[in-house]
Amino acid sequence: MKSRPIITAGLVCAAVAGLAVWIIHARLFGHWLQVHTGTVNEPGPYYGFWSGFGSDLTEFGIIGAIATGVYQLVKKYNCHYPRCWRVGNHPAADGQFSLCYRHHPDYQGKKPTQELIQRLHREHMERQAAILARLPGVHEHLAAKAGDNGVPGPGAPTAQADRSGNT
Ligand SMILES: [Zn+2]
Repeated sequence: MKSRPIITAGLVCAAVAGLAVWIIHARLFGHWLQVHTGTVNEPGPYYGFWSGFGSDLTEFGIIGAIATGVYQLVKKYNCHYPRCWRVGNHPAADGQFSLCYRHHPDYQGKKPTQELIQRLHREHMERQAAILARLPGVHEHLAAKAGDNGVPGPGAPTAQADRSGNT
């Protein structure tokens, strides 16, 4: 926390010092810059570098970017089980994991069969129906509590509301 102003001041001082040196030796530095960016003395010592190995530097950057993209795609789509290289397109734990059929707990290491698909679908529909059936009851319960408390709309249950609701 305290070192941050010191670092900032140091950087500012270094920048000012660099600028002063640059202005004092403007001609010398200008020549140095021309040689090192290859705008003067073309067949000089750096010509071979920039027309040879140096011209490939951007390609290394592009190859690196492509490799990073491929790596991220693999990390996104491959199975989350350690050291598994299959495509993980079966979500588990409410989408927290993407797993292949071999590592998904519902499939028990086998490819999902017609029977398993139909059973899991039926169970899912039953769960949804049960949740939907309970919703109106929950709403009425909250409305009743709010009415007892004298507060319009569903509010947080208080000790008064709990007592009157139980009796
Ligand atoms: Zn897997």
